[in-house]
Amino acid sequence: MGSVQIVTTILAAGITAVAVWLAVRAVMKMTAVIRLGQPAPERFADKGARTRKMLVETAGHTRMLKWGVVGAAHWFVMVGFIVLSLLVLEAYFEVVTPTGGLPIIGHWTIFGLVTEVITVLGLVGILVLMAIRLRNRPNRPGGRSRFTGSTMWQGYFVEWIVLLVLIFGLVIRGFKVATDHFEYPFWATPVSHAVGAVLPDWQDGASVAAVIKIIISMTWLIVISLNVTMGVAWHRFLAFPNIFFKREPTKPAGSGLGALRPMTSQGKPLDFEEADPEKDQFGVAQVEQFTWKGLLDFSTCTECGRCQSQCPAWNTGKPLSPKLLVLSLRDHAYAKAPYLLAGGGKDLTGEEKATAAQLAHLDVLALAEGDKPLIGDAESGGVIDPDVLWSCTTCGACVEQCPVDIEHVDHIVDMRRYQVLIESSFPSEAGVMLRNLENKGNPWGAPQNTREDWTKGLDFEVPRVGEVDDFEYLFWVGCAGAFEDRAKKTTRAVATLLNEAGVSFAILGEGETCSGDPARRIGNEFVFQMLAQQNVETLNEAFEGREKAKRKIVATCPHCFNTLGNEYGQLGGEFEVVHHTQLLAHLVSTGKLTPVQPVDGGVTYHDPCYLGRHNRVFAAPREVLGDAIEGEITEMPRNSERSFCCGAGGARMWMEEKIGKRINVDRVEEAMATGAKTVAVGCPFCSTMLNDGVNGKGAGEQVEVIDVASVLLRSVKPEQPRGDKESTPVAG
Ligand code: SF4
Ligand code: SF4
Repeated sequence: MGSVQIVTTILAAGITAVAVWLAVRAVMKMTAVIRLGQPAPERFADKGARTRKMLVETAGHTRMLKWGVVGAAHWFVMVGFIVLSLLVLEAYFEVVTPTGGLPIIGHWTIFGLVTEVITVLGLVGILVLMAIRLRNRPNRPGGRSRFTGSTMWQGYFVEWIVLLVLIFGLVIRGFKVATDHFEYPFWATPVSHAVGAVLPDWQDGASVAAVIKIIISMTWLIVISLNVTMGVAWHRFLAFPNIFFKREPTKPAGSGLGALRPMTSQGKPLDFEEADPEKDQFGVAQVEQFTWKGLLDFSTCTECGRCQSQCPAWNTGKPLSPKLLVLSLRDHAYAKAPYLLAGGGKDLTGEEKATAAQLAHLDVLALAEGDKPLIGDAESGGVIDPDVLWSCTTCGACVEQCPVDIEHVDHIVDMRRYQVLIESSFPSEAGVMLRNLENKGNPWGAPQNTREDWTKGLDFEVPRVGEVDDFEYLFWVGCAGAFEDRAKKTTRAVATLLNEAGVSFAILGEGETCSGDPARRIGNEFVFQMLAQQNVETLNEAFEGREKAKRKIVATCPHCFNTLGNEYGQLGGEFEVVHHTQLLAHLVSTGKLTPVQPVDGGVTYHDPCYLGRHNRVFAAPREVLGDAIEGEITEMPRNSERSFCCGAGGARMWMEEKIGKRINVDRVEEAMATGAKTVAVGCPFCSTMLNDGVNGKGAGEQVEVIDVASVLLRSVKPEQPRGDKESTPVAG
């Protein structure tokens, strides 16, 4: 060993020892913070499915590749990181001797070839990612950036480290070529040979380049170990467990879509008949009341801002960004951790758990963090502003986009649950809706005995459950479908089409109450449970004696469709629920309904969030429209899984939109820009919001917002009177 190698070896050993020590300390710290969360025993079920999902999502980059170029570039960088870690290991042999290399595999030409290819592709990948980050930097002239609010130096730092490590890998090889100590042939390692051709014949070059590579790599490890909230770096390790422990590993899309999680306390679902707010946790009031998976979610965020770029609240100037929400919770959790780990924290009655002696050694910052309210405005020093919490439409665009499977909607609703159930703190205008749900069983407060008024004037009898011996489908009308004037037209259109197609169906009539969706999404789990239990009982009675496959329900409202199909199972109600567009598509494809006159004037389609993103029903409404209209659907730029919310979900329908641009106006502008005269929808709330948007723009005469069923009805029965027009302003 020469003198140069003595120095390089000491340097490599020294910095590695420091880095490894700091890394172990950081991992222990992160583990301790994540373990502060509540139990989530269900996350350990289905280990086989979880493993498969994790491998598919990471190796196949299935979620990253939704954004093609970024996804492909990131894949090469990820593979480069894993495979080229071997070359970092090899550098430890090269600091000892410039001709050193990995034992056994280091002598294989195939190893030289694979690492060469991955180095080059990794270089291309990282340069692409760097260019994308620069092009989207928050301070660039004009426009909002998905990186607004991200810690930019961390992103640049990680990217430069990757770039330098890759470059120094080639430099090491180049020195070996230049000194004639390189054992791979030119055909397998042409880039290394090209680098070697321009480097001097310096015998110690490989050792010096190797120690620089190790110093760069260990600097990265030291920096990220000193910054445990540096998700842009830590996600390389945390993404694997975060995806493994996702909520529903068998789901094709984001696991946090569709059903909401039941309320839990100590990992067990809460039974409202016995629950006691002084003993049981009602939602989340403190960051440590999230489950450990929630804390793992916050730690894993890469700050990529994909969620932010798709969020309707953020895109219309509201203070909510799903990314910033996650980052606030993460920073708060880590800042509060010393206080919690010292035994601090508030019990469910709000009393401090720790003794003064336990907290005596803590610094004031940790103590102050422990005192911060989780929800509160700037004046009260809250972590999450109420305007942030209540801006969410639960559209799921964030969950859909997140490459590491963070479950934003669950976290937002958990915080809402505490605010509503314990603090009674929510936008006051929503109080009317909640009172109506409790007293009248529908958000409008309409008399229950008017639930069947929509059937008046139809030229056929609408059968009620109990009045007919048998029926194939139970037609779940929904509150909007029964009480809201525009939605009633959709209900009538669907009933007419089912009757025309000879489908045997029946309604519950006055036996139906609200599915509970608005109560659940605003956070009032108590009212949801009350309504849902009543409905489950009614439905179980209606389907008594039938197996699940024959307990068929058709719903026109995607919120009911989602709640009945995905959430009633939590309460013992197992049904086969279809959306009316699915049933209509089936009836058209099987020849039971025949469109005869194509609807003209151009049609665009707005995907309702709870039909599309939450339940993956993208094709059926398009198939119905494809059969009923002239020409093709003119798609809006934001469609299907990237569709833009109408602004009504998450009980936002019942709250005033006081901040920023109205979401429905944003969406209507996009729809009108297609030039289509008809905006087809598949949801009564979307219909209301988009109609309001069109009317607000004074375009009610030029553009019509109408349900897919009504479009089909016009095509199947063109002689039908046009009383199904939905754009006429209607009193709520
Ligand atoms: S669910 Fe929709 S509105 Fe809520 S944070 Fe996510 S993207 Fe934004
Ligand atoms: S998409 Fe996921 S990882 Fe990216 S910023 Fe949003 S929450 Fe974080």
